[in-house]
Amino acid sequence: MVNQYMLALGQTRSCIRELFEYGIRQKAAGETVYDFSIGNPSIPAPPEVNESFVSILQNTDSLSVHGYTQAPGAMDARQAVAEELNSRYGSNLRWESIFFTCGAAPALTSVVRALAVEGAEVLAIAPYFAEYRPFVEGNGAAFVPVPADREKFQIDCAALEERVTAHTQAVIVNSPNNPSGVVYTRPTLEKLAEVLTRKSREFGHPIYIISDEPYRELVYDGAEVPFLPDLYPNTVICYSYSKSLSMPGERIGYVCVPDRAADSKLLFAAAAGAARSLGHVCAPSLQQRVVAACAASRPDLEAYDRNRVALYDALTSYGYQCVRPNGAFYLFVKAPGGDAQAFSNRAKERNLLVVPGGDFGCPDYFRASTCVSHEMLLRSLPVFKELIKEYQ
Ligand code: PLP
Repeated sequence: MVNQYMLALGQTRSCIRELFEYGIRQKAAGETVYDFSIGNPSIPAPPEVNESFVSILQNTDSLSVHGYTQAPGAMDARQAVAEELNSRYGSNLRWESIFFTCGAAPALTSVVRALAVEGAEVLAIAPYFAEYRPFVEGNGAAFVPVPADREKFQIDCAALEERVTAHTQAVIVNSPNNPSGVVYTRPTLEKLAEVLTRKSREFGHPIYIISDEPYRELVYDGAEVPFLPDLYPNTVICYSYSKSLSMPGERIGYVCVPDRAADSKLLFAAAAGAARSLGHVCAPSLQQRVVAACAASRPDLEAYDRNRVALYDALTSYGYQCVRPNGAFYLFVKAPGGDAQAFSNRAKERNLLVVPGGDFGCPDYFRASTCVSHEMLLRSLPVFKELIKEYQ
């Protein structure tokens, strides 16, 4: 007998992976493929990242560089991350508030698991990163989607308030957002903070924001990404260097539980305990050192920005409806005909791979990743144009 929930999870592949792997097979068969399926960074890591890897390997003794660190990470690396955040946001974070994880995914599962008391509910704003559902349901809490406002894909705080109950433990906030590319504005987040403060008081326990921030540095047109702990003290940060430093395969990120959060020490310890229960030992020690050396490095966003503008301008000129994204590297587009699965299937027949939004909580939208080659993007435009004509 095996766990039926885990079996079902293991036997279904994410729709993104399925399309991505289909694309690989088609390319191997010599087909021309326009692949907008996966969010794999398409700009190289900043040069200092690779230089750090090399220099650390050359200049540190082998036993220490390949050895275990303390379970939450090496003190100096945690210190480097805390200092970088403090210098950027004027915060007062201590290194003890940070523990390294193998990317944002285990950061999120650890925090959710830490909050999964009996009957716990965790809210997420749709559209949401598709893996939130298994992250929440697989770690002992109920997953509660909240529709965003459909005009701008900002948080609909009234809809959110209706779904907060005495069992609500946390709301996952992801800005810049995957899949919409939208950055939540300061007024939106202030309103969210007001609702959660009121509801926490009403129900007599803190409702945390779990701020999932892998795209924090990927913003355009001067968009502001407010530092959520400043607006709402009961915020826990889950961060990843996967996108900002273009190293998703290196698996490095962190959880940060600021001192100002209610029961911060208990929450930190429970998240560390949750990570332990999931078999997390310590994040890769080489990557911790690289992050310590490159905490202030930033990606060169020019290529993402060029793709964002080119695809948005082209698709909207053909008649597609889409909120102009100002963050991350995705476009979330209303599916002509209203059924994104059907649209995606039709696109796939032309080797154009876009992800239907059902798993993101919006089955009438599709996602196109703009972390692709610009040349491929330009070649795909006539296909997008022909497709929408079939619906007009
Ligand atoms: N959260 C969001 C919104 C993401 O888009 C991703 C990855 O695409 C993750 C979390 C997981 O990131 P990581 O690769 O660091 O585990």
